[in-house]
Amino acid sequence: MKAFDLTGKVAIVTGGNGGIGLGMARGLAEAGAAVVIAARNEAKSRAAVQEIEGRGGRAIAVPVDVARPESVAALVQTAAARLGRVDILVNNAGTNIRKQPEQVSLEEWHLVLDTNLTSAFVCSQAVYPEMKKAGGGKILNNGSMASIFGLPFAPAYGASKGGIMQLTRSLATAWAKDNIQVNCFLPGWIDTELTQAARSQVPGLHERVLARTPQGRWGRIDDMAGIAVFLASPASDFITGTAIPVDGGFSVMG
Ligand code: NDP
Repeated sequence: MKAFDLTGKVAIVTGGNGGIGLGMARGLAEAGAAVVIAARNEAKSRAAVQEIEGRGGRAIAVPVDVARPESVAALVQTAAARLGRVDILVNNAGTNIRKQPEQVSLEEWHLVLDTNLTSAFVCSQAVYPEMKKAGGGKILNNGSMASIFGLPFAPAYGASKGGIMQLTRSLATAWAKDNIQVNCFLPGWIDTELTQAARSQVPGLHERVLARTPQGRWGRIDDMAGIAVFLASPASDFITGTAIPVDGGFSVMG
């Protein structure tokens, strides 16, 4: 279907070498986009590129630390130089430090905010000239159920994910004039390395997630492919500034 066709488009996926980012990168590549896998672990990024190529897609790996603005600038420069343009940015890279608020150091607070929130601002600013040049673009920001609910064991993460929703709205309203749509998606509990760590650190979490999720299961990374393609494609051209849950019903469960 043409409305979901990404042929000729170039997408940068931060944190695209594993977890949710990889699920989204797979979807974007399958829809025809050339995908830039942008993360720190180069061996994992190479493996992701090989996997996408093995499925008939096009991908390159470019190392980046999204918490370092000069590294982000180099990423966008390399992506544009090697693939000719940047049409889609998925701000997905993220981390968490699970502690009660009274135990979080300022250094830990900054690490989570820099990685999850400031990075999305810096990456968006860095791609803006490329998107303007291309006549428009799509920015997808990874929120969380923590964008709308409180997690007692993740204050910095919650602040970063609440901020992502508001950053999305600001960018969407500012850059609508440039034909750039900016949306965020709010994953429910998806089975990844990040949440495997959470399961081992937070007693009872696994059971609580199953009980609270109407669809009765954890999300899989491939559950994230559809929303990536939708928000990156012409199918969503009149949608901007929204926050779309992808959560098996978690956020509507009373
Ligand atoms: P993973 O741990 O599997 O993925 C995290 C990704 O982020 C990795 O690819 C990692 O790559 C990358 N990353 C982390 N820090 C940096 C950095 N400084 N610079 C560049 N890349 C970085 O976890 P998820 O897939 O679960 O998490 C991905 C996103 O999804 C996060 O934003 C998370 O908050 C969000 N999310 C996850 C949910 C879940 O249930 N799993 C629910 C809601 C939101 P590398 O280490 O190679 O740099």
